[in-house]
Amino acid sequence: MSVAPSIVWFRDDLRVADHPALAAAVERGAPVVCVYVLDEESPGIRPLGGAAKWWLNGSLTALGAALDGLGARLVLRRGPAARVIRSLVDETGAGAVFWNRRYGGPERRLDAELKQAFRDDGLIVQSFAANLLFEPWTIRTGQGTPFSVFTPFWRACMHAPEPRHPLPAPEKIEPTDVATERLDDWSLLPTRPDWAAGLREAWSPGAVAAHERLRGFLADDLADYADGRDRPARSATSRLSPHLRWGELSPHEVWHAMRQRRVHGEGANRFRTELGWREFAWHVLFHAPELATTNWRGEFDAFPWPRLHPAALRAWEEGRTGVPLVDAGMRELWATGTMHNRVRMVVASFLTKNLLIDWRRGEQWFWDTLVDADAASNPFNWQWVAGSGADAAPYFRVFNPELQATKFDPDGEYVRRWVAEIGTDEYPEPIVDLKQTRAAALAAYEHVKAAA
Ligand code: FAD
Repeated sequence: MSVAPSIVWFRDDLRVADHPALAAAVERGAPVVCVYVLDEESPGIRPLGGAAKWWLNGSLTALGAALDGLGARLVLRRGPAARVIRSLVDETGAGAVFWNRRYGGPERRLDAELKQAFRDDGLIVQSFAANLLFEPWTIRTGQGTPFSVFTPFWRACMHAPEPRHPLPAPEKIEPTDVATERLDDWSLLPTRPDWAAGLREAWSPGAVAAHERLRGFLADDLADYADGRDRPARSATSRLSPHLRWGELSPHEVWHAMRQRRVHGEGANRFRTELGWREFAWHVLFHAPELATTNWRGEFDAFPWPRLHPAALRAWEEGRTGVPLVDAGMRELWATGTMHNRVRMVVASFLTKNLLIDWRRGEQWFWDTLVDADAASNPFNWQWVAGSGADAAPYFRVFNPELQATKFDPDGEYVRRWVAEIGTDEYPEPIVDLKQTRAAALAAYEHVKAAA
């Protein structure tokens, strides 16, 4: 049996259960170096936003504790990932490197180059499917092309082999003695000012909390999900998105927990379909790696975005537009690092259509403020609302925030929760006229139609 250690490179999979790369390393029988690399330097890797860094700090703390419990240690290193992993191989004399796959363009390039280089050096290198139910390249249309419409995509997934069962956590990991940086030295938490009080109140990062949330949701909330999921005042959705984003919980664990509990009915179907939207966003990103910067539908390049009005953008970011549902959502986001899905759609429509501000500005703000921001779901959904994306809402579907509030927050409970001064003189008048701006947006859209 080889004694040269194995390296397990943790990325968006901060868990010890259902972790195929970790399982393979343990199976190999040698000591295991578990490493996380904070990479803010490799070309094309998008630096994490502020809320994401806050989450990462908690998630790494939780992962460190879980590995401790198995006899191992989490090694933290900072720098360009390829260089860091190479020097770790040299330092430890590792004979094998394992990781779970990533699906973004720059990440795939980096991983592929590293894999080739290590193999050329005679190392064992293996990558695994871990964070998606269906590998993006395995789901294809009858013509062999990627899907651009959700419903047939999901139908094809449902005809593919069922997602595998989750793997158990290892019982024990043989450790190695490798130096680690200190998490505190990474300064992932905000100070001066510490804006994270609301995040701390709203969330507990880590796999233990993720599994608790999953159990609670399946037991208590799933039955009401189909009805309640569109009501921002209710806590009817799973709130699993950041746990899935950071891989504290795998989609396989969610899938099979549902199977095990034999949950049926409209709520269960609807919830599974939402997991399907997550898969679709990654499928689209895999085939269009520039999703965060480039219109998925090229004809939207002809959209005449007017010159940015910075004050309007700031009012939107700070929840001071004078449109109650929009302001409530933006304040919820700032305070807690999340926003209800229905309200995300409304604020995104308001930014891109009523304020005529490029979707990329909104995507960037969400990237910085959401704890669940990921490279696929965020740009995918922004482009979906803006009309430029895959299977997007038609551009002329301009959400009317007042009608949306009447329909989905009929008692005004959600708005009052976040906009305490509603109904008083302190609350501003709307910064734009909804009707006029809607008409202006539709006029601007004529350019796209002409370019199509
Ligand atoms: P639930 O309703 O419980 O859904 C279960 C899971 O399904 C979610 O945790 C999530 O993983 C997945 N899911 C649900 N809806 C979507 C969707 N439309 N697209 C992709 N996955 C979905 N979601 C993110 O995870 N990260 C993002 O960066 C993100 N940005 C968004 C930006 C905009 C403009 C919009 C309109 C939506 C965005 N979403 C994003 C999708 C959705 O709003 C969140 O996934 C959802 O609100 C998370 O709450 P939940 O976990 O309670 O969802």
